[in-house]
Amino acid sequence: MALPLAALVFLVDSGTSLPSAVAVLYAGIVLLVAEDCAPRTVLLTGLGCALLAVGSFLAMHYGEPWGASHLRLAVSLAAIAITTLLALRKGSAERILGQQAEILDLTHDTVIICDADDIIRYWNGGAEKLYGWTRHEAVGARCQDLLGTRFPVPVKEIERLLRTTGSWSGDLVRTRRDGQPVELQTRLLWRPAAGGERGDVIETSADMTERKRADASIRNAEHRYRLIFQNAGVAIWENDFSRLFAALEGLEASGVTDVRAHLLQDRALVRRLVGMVAVTDVNETAVALFQAAERGQLLGSVGSAISTPEAEETFARLVASMWDGDGRGEAETSFQTLAGERIDVLLRLTIPAEATRWERVLVTMLDVTERNRTQQALTRTLAELAHASRVSTLGQMAASIAHEVNQPLSAIVTYGEAGRRWLKREAPGAEETAACLTHMLDNGRRAAEVIERVRALSRKSVPRKERFALCEVVDASLVLVQRELATGGITLRQTMEAGLPEVLGDRIQIQQVIMNLLLNSIQALVVVDGPSRVLFIDVARSDPDMIRVAVRDRGVGIAETDLGQLFEPFFTTKSNGMGIGLSICRSIVESHGGRIWASNNGGDEGGGATVQFTLPVAREGA
Ligand code: ADP
Repeated sequence: MALPLAALVFLVDSGTSLPSAVAVLYAGIVLLVAEDCAPRTVLLTGLGCALLAVGSFLAMHYGEPWGASHLRLAVSLAAIAITTLLALRKGSAERILGQQAEILDLTHDTVIICDADDIIRYWNGGAEKLYGWTRHEAVGARCQDLLGTRFPVPVKEIERLLRTTGSWSGDLVRTRRDGQPVELQTRLLWRPAAGGERGDVIETSADMTERKRADASIRNAEHRYRLIFQNAGVAIWENDFSRLFAALEGLEASGVTDVRAHLLQDRALVRRLVGMVAVTDVNETAVALFQAAERGQLLGSVGSAISTPEAEETFARLVASMWDGDGRGEAETSFQTLAGERIDVLLRLTIPAEATRWERVLVTMLDVTERNRTQQALTRTLAELAHASRVSTLGQMAASIAHEVNQPLSAIVTYGEAGRRWLKREAPGAEETAACLTHMLDNGRRAAEVIERVRALSRKSVPRKERFALCEVVDASLVLVQRELATGGITLRQTMEAGLPEVLGDRIQIQQVIMNLLLNSIQALVVVDGPSRVLFIDVARSDPDMIRVAVRDRGVGIAETDLGQLFEPFFTTKSNGMGIGLSICRSIVESHGGRIWASNNGGDEGGGATVQFTLPVAREGA
């Protein structure tokens, strides 16, 4: 629009000889351009207008003597220059204001200006974004109507403070366009109008909803932790291990390379380290477990008061693994309570990731004293049951045992008589008599051996751990069932791998297992036809660390439905059976670290069943 206007002014100025300064109108063109354009364009427009004015003057008045036309030109040029300058200055002031307004728009905080009647006069981008109303919608509305502000104190009080001190800060709650509440941290500034009571209130607010939610969730988490801490069924201790950490650092600095080995060897050091642990908090369960009268008795350095030699050893091991980088460690150990009672606990140490210098270490202790007592009682009961079962097995074998003892006794009598006869001869046969005596001694020993084995089996003793050769125990068991095999017409096939390593455990209990399996097989065999009465016993390595004993027969086999319950207590298919043999076998084998299982043989193996078990090879030095 400026261009045609400029052309019009130029035409009027150059084509008419009006006695007025038409070129002054160029100032209006400069103003028009200044409305929307950049300062450069305004400057160029000013220059262009000045040139046009000069051009018109030259065209109309060139060569005229100095007079009114020159004056008009001067006035026009001055008007154009002043207008251009003013337009440029106003432009730059507006630009600064515009930039400031843009900055206000850019901040995330909301900026609102309300007049004395609470009518919104300014509403920045932050307010648009947070509350949901555009500037266009908000400006002119009553602030309270739009946002439904809830103040922490009466509005009158805020107004009074604003007038007297000029500002107010506090937390507000407002409702957004979508109906959601927002929590704000707000600052109000009072901007009095010149010379009057009335003025504006400039408000900046930051949205605290998320922060408050996060704070609340932290508070909640803390509260929940405290709740769990206080009411947990396990004892929880919060400790500061930082002195201990520094001591271990010092140890390394002094040239100790293997802290673990050092800790495991130096008891005095461990005791000193225990003394460096500072207990910062304990829960109620810990107070009760350690028989303290109140919480305070367990705070500070109580390590030495509750420690035992086992606890020290466990502590050394756990600290060593934590030093090696494990964030947690677990072990079972014993402590003593403040009343001097011994307690067994499952101990767990945890270092939270942020406690880089062990300034916070959580120790939980689960009381297993009762569990251990029950376990011991169970082991005792089991041993008694196993003993009862052994005695009952021996009872079943009374006839065989009597036979086993009787045989050597009869032999002794026979050899005794023969010897006497040799002695009664005219020329007593010294050699023959000596041979009779040797036989008598051998048989006497054999009888004594059988009796010793029976006594061993019937003896009531606590389970022992010793190294022994499995093959020897198999042999000893076979001796005792010899007669059962013979009377049942059962053929025995025995294979034993040569050079087997020893196993570790209770020899008598393992013998009981083998005899149980043998007797079960014998009982399964006597009901089948004569020719297939074969019993196999196999001792071999099943893998590098295990030895397997398999008792296989061609007997009646096991019904498929019974296979799963064979080892259950009191499961029996026999009219006179008790059903505890295999269940005792299982507990014995498992307590030795082995496994026992039963299966039916395939038709190609002649049918029947196999019951086998494994035992771990005794480790070197065990
Ligand atoms: P009991 O001999 O008093 O029945 P056990 O626990 O020793 O108790 O055996 C449980 C059951 O397992 C037996 O009743 C029998 O049915 C079955 N069983 C065990 N060994 C064999 C076997 N070699 N052949 C067939 N059945 C067997």
